[in-house]
Amino acid sequence: RDKQQQQALQRSQLTHSTTRPSVKLSNESEDAAPHRLLPVAEARAAIVRMLTNQSACIIVGETGSGKTTQIPQFAWDDVVSKGLCGGDDANVGIVGCTQPRRVAAVSIAKHVAEQRGVALGGEVGYAVRFDDKTSHKTRIKFMTDGILLREIQADPLLQKYSCIILDEAHERTLHGDVLFGLLKDLTRKRQKDLKIVVMSATLNAQHFSSFWRDAPIGVVHGRSYPVTVYHTAEPQADFVEAAISTILQVHCSEPLKENGGGDILCFLTGQEEIEDAKRVLEHRLKELPNDTPDFQVLTLYSAMPYEQQLRVFEASPVGVRKVILATNIAETSITVEGIKYVVDSGVVKAKSFSAKTGMESLAETDVSRAQATQRAGRAGRMSAGKCYRLYTQDAYERMAENTTPEITRSSLNSVILQMKGIGIQDVETFEFMDKPPTAAIRRAEETLFLLGALDRDRSITALGKALTHFPIEPTAAKSILCGKVYGIPREVVGVIAMIATENIYVTSREGKEKADNCRRTFAKPVGDHISYLALFQHYMRLPRDGTHRKDFCDSNSLSHRQMLKMEDTFKQLMAILDTVEVDADWFHGALEAMTLQHRGGTKSHRVDPHARGDDDGSDRKQSSVKHGGGCGGGNASAGGGDFELVRRALCHGFFMNAAYFDTKLQRYRLVIGQQPVHLHPTSALTFQTRRKPSLVIFNNVVETTQRYMKEVTAIHEQWLQDAAPLLYKRIA
Ligand code: ADP
Ligand code: MG
Repeated sequence: RDKQQQQALQRSQLTHSTTRPSVKLSNESEDAAPHRLLPVAEARAAIVRMLTNQSACIIVGETGSGKTTQIPQFAWDDVVSKGLCGGDDANVGIVGCTQPRRVAAVSIAKHVAEQRGVALGGEVGYAVRFDDKTSHKTRIKFMTDGILLREIQADPLLQKYSCIILDEAHERTLHGDVLFGLLKDLTRKRQKDLKIVVMSATLNAQHFSSFWRDAPIGVVHGRSYPVTVYHTAEPQADFVEAAISTILQVHCSEPLKENGGGDILCFLTGQEEIEDAKRVLEHRLKELPNDTPDFQVLTLYSAMPYEQQLRVFEASPVGVRKVILATNIAETSITVEGIKYVVDSGVVKAKSFSAKTGMESLAETDVSRAQATQRAGRAGRMSAGKCYRLYTQDAYERMAENTTPEITRSSLNSVILQMKGIGIQDVETFEFMDKPPTAAIRRAEETLFLLGALDRDRSITALGKALTHFPIEPTAAKSILCGKVYGIPREVVGVIAMIATENIYVTSREGKEKADNCRRTFAKPVGDHISYLALFQHYMRLPRDGTHRKDFCDSNSLSHRQMLKMEDTFKQLMAILDTVEVDADWFHGALEAMTLQHRGGTKSHRVDPHARGDDDGSDRKQSSVKHGGGCGGGNASAGGGDFELVRRALCHGFFMNAAYFDTKLQRYRLVIGQQPVHLHPTSALTFQTRRKPSLVIFNNVVETTQRYMKEVTAIHEQWLQDAAPLLYKRIA
């Protein structure tokens, strides 16, 4: 009995509760609803009524109830196209639906186009960064928050839309939050002819409602079944290992339904871990007794190609269990039928911002209780399910109630710059749903000021405007602009495209040696950016036709798909750069750098003027550089074998991320803040130089047990002073 009681204590039935009365959305003709209809489809009439009568409303519904796939269609078919959204009949706009994740925007658009039997890019389309599949025929458009944010800059009234659906509002992404503030303001100006729908998967929608002037909350009740939740008795040291053994235990002890129910969904944090767990699982499957049924391991993370992600929706062969290893994509963005068991690691990889160092990094953090509830809920879609949490009940209770809004844990640089670009002068008084700490706003304004993107009145400058054209961090964009002034745009954009592309190397255990060899082959003593550049140039010189590039990738453990993405990014950044006018005056010391480039910084630094590392045969244009025309000339090579000009251009963007080698401590410390940091083990500087460069810049910091700098390049003090004279003149 004691044992039973103890077990009862360890499990708890999932219950959802709401604290403010809300409308239950249901159809008048409930009995007529065929069972296969999604809950949202059953509530169609009520939803349409709500949309028609309200200028803003909140719709809450369990994940998988059909919000994302159906409601934009209802909005178009039953409201907007019928002229029921107010305004001028002749000026009917389209329906836009925002998503925090690219994969969701793309896969949902595909799914909806299929449902409607139309070609993607026609009536139904999507737009995500670097990929626009819409046309003048598009009426229902799925897009990322970032895309809509950009559109507001071009058209502050968003005239083309009659209805904007803000989906996955519970995620509280930074872009989503800024959109909230902007759209709220916009609804004042377009009171009569713009509909706003906020959709959320979690029931605590009061916050949204009160932000939207007490907009009504409609709740769609799903048909979910109870989920029994188990916690571990002890904290787990290695959650990947714990996940693997839990999955195997469930597989061996729980029956698999003939109709396919009984699949397992496991939440891990990222690609590497997921691929690793997959290999181990597949290996251990072979060791199981012969009479155990088979399982098939599928993976789901955002760096995967969309087509591959869609495989999780396919049915597995009869008698084979699906085991899906996923990141938090599967929490609410994407629903897979047939899941009966959920294994929850309790962690998520999230962006976090250190106010101390002023840097952003991706780190593993505990999920919130709301996320844990979402994850568990995935087990109860078809029938009663079970959720195995790989953490204790205590740990669960210590978790934050809700996910911390991204805005409160981000570097606000690019968002604030975009806000300034839109004309939001006073960011400190902007109507944020949850205001970022004033200190963070000021820090971002300061960084942007040092970048030259804001002037002393904190207004956006011409340089700042130029930076907003790039869909990347302002720091990286400034390096690119500087590259144009130096006459080396291809080189700098190549470096930025390489570092902006995730997972260029395939990180499998078998591939590690090849990847390490490749890193070594292309490693340059001055650091990672230039090593990346060497790899980039080698790759781009390979003939495009045939399998040369793919073969090169395969033999070096490079992901060909990611390299294709990189190329795409490269082309788009180059195209943007072509249209942007650059003023050489934005870059201190630029002229000097152009003419004195071979003098380097210190005496020990030798540059071989004959070594040309940039022999990719491209002719570099110096188009539209104001005042810069005279200094392009023959002297403007990428800076010899050490690519000095490329590194200088990088300094113009990343000068805040500088670290010096403390000879006493024998390690690096940040120039700003003095915190100790280490070279990441994959850095070219770890195995190339005997003597550590005394000053470096880096792109980003990853935190595990220690802080590691990734993408690190040796630089000279003078370059920092040129890049940010106001910041660095004192340390000279
Ligand atoms: P919600 O937004 O409420 O979470 P969705 O509209 O995303 O719900 O999903 C409704 C149903 O549509 C889900 O049960 C899922 O099975 C199905 N679905 C969604 N996206 C796809 C897709 N890309 N391919 C196949 N089925 C999908
Ligand atoms: Mg959804």
